[in-house]
Amino acid sequence: MSVILVTIESRGGAVLPISFELLAAARQLADAAGWQVEALVAAADPAPLAAEIKAADRVLTVAHPALSPYNPAAQAAVLKSVVAARRPALTLCGYTTAGLDLAPVAAAAGQAALVAYATALSLEGESLKATSQVYGGKLTAATETALPAVAALVPGRWSEEAGRAGSGGSVEAIEPPALDALGCAVVAELQPEAGGVDLTQADKILCVGRGIGDKDKIPVAAEVAELLGAALAGSRPIIDSGWLEKARQVGKSGTKVKPKLYVAVGVSGAPEHLEGMGSAELIVAVNSDAQAPIFGAAHFGTTCDLFDLLPAVAERLRQ
Ligand SMILES: Cc1cc2nc3c(=O)[nH]c(=O)nc-3n(C[C@H](O)[C@H](O)[C@H](O)COP(=O)(O)OP(=O)(O)OC[C@H]3O[C@@H](n4cnc5c(N)ncnc54)[C@H](O)[C@@H]3O)c2cc1C
Repeated sequence: MSVILVTIESRGGAVLPISFELLAAARQLADAAGWQVEALVAAADPAPLAAEIKAADRVLTVAHPALSPYNPAAQAAVLKSVVAARRPALTLCGYTTAGLDLAPVAAAAGQAALVAYATALSLEGESLKATSQVYGGKLTAATETALPAVAALVPGRWSEEAGRAGSGGSVEAIEPPALDALGCAVVAELQPEAGGVDLTQADKILCVGRGIGDKDKIPVAAEVAELLGAALAGSRPIIDSGWLEKARQVGKSGTKVKPKLYVAVGVSGAPEHLEGMGSAELIVAVNSDAQAPIFGAAHFGTTCDLFDLLPAVAERLRQ
């Protein structure tokens, strides 16, 4: 029977949300095709992580001290050996920092094509059909790839909750390959300075994107954030321009947030941004471009010009 292999990411002894999204995607595809799902947990102590995984038919555990904290060389060596030995029809990685390390390794080991930036997947006979969000979300690419294949999935597009469900499968311990001469060691894990704001704890976030146009205009959004009782955040260009401090950046290279309300103002919705906020409970987007990819993630949206909308909203909230 064909197998979908899911690479599990963990940090600080817990499985990361993206891994549950991958499990949800794998489960959906496998159930439709009559296939099986295997989850690969490679860590210094994989047992507690494996116990969190209920949606896979089998959890493959690999234990070695070099695997935690995350070491790309060690994880790559394990994935390479597992793919070479088990030949999965499809391997799923996150389109995440770790996934960017590992997906090409899985593709090379399995002599498989790699589909990146995937936001939707289906299996049709011997091929994988995928929708990918490319060029920072400006284009949507539809691809059909012969199996075996590897897909790197954009976070925030599958249900984390569905990936946490299930009754659990078997656990199989696998011997690690030689991990002594990796040529790469983790020296220290550095946490970004909080800088007075902790977006991960915010219930409401209003995020400003490049659509705000100028540093002088930030107060237009900041006022609405304050009236809403929301933390003010920015997309990467806003932070890179020095318009807001680094602790306020949402996304792949910023903070991952899951507030009850996320208002994205003048944010296009590039995959790297969605990675940080795609799991927010309620996403409201304000973007004058009806084709902006943020509308693919938003629950509510408006194509109003933000400079028309925000002062009016502020006025209403003040009343
Ligand atoms: C490795 C890597 C890591 C990255 N990490 C991050 C990250 O952590 N966070 C992040 O955000 N990005 C990250 N990026 C960058 C990401 O790819 C995008 O470039 C970025 O998110 C775009 O920011 P934006 O949406 O603010 O700007 P743009 O893409 O320029 O979008 C601006 C939007 O504003 C809209 N707009 C313009 N004027 C108005 C108006 N008057 N009213 C309403 N709407 C208007 C436009 O239609 C447009 O959609 C990363 C990229 C890489 C390669």
